[in-house]
Amino acid sequence: MEKSSEQYLEEIQQIYQMFPNAKFCIAIKLDDLDDIISERNNIVVKQDYNCYCYKNFRKKTDYFYIKGQKLTNKFIISKLIEQGLELDCNHCFIEGFYKIKNSDCQFEIMIGS
Ligand SMILES: [Zn+2]
Repeated sequence: MEKSSEQYLEEIQQIYQMFPNAKFCIAIKLDDLDDIISERNNIVVKQDYNCYCYKNFRKKTDYFYIKGQKLTNKFIISKLIEQGLELDCNHCFIEGFYKIKNSDCQFEIMIGS
């Protein structure tokens, strides 16, 4: 069933309340927050800052080391907040995490605007 825009706003509000200290926006559906991203107990999340906003002043790649029993979207987001991830360019929406090819522990952040 399609969600009404009211339900949609409600969801955004709930996610916002779940992560009040986030210095980025979360564009992951509430239903997907408990999805397990890796069966491992430790991964590295890499953020390249390679969008056009950083064309003239390169920002160096950040690596976030995430360790836990159940690496869900929610858990990873809470760890990224703890470790100080900030997305302050035009691309501040985290849409998910995906595994880097040829590596089983490195992940990249899927970012949208
Ligand atoms: Zn950007």
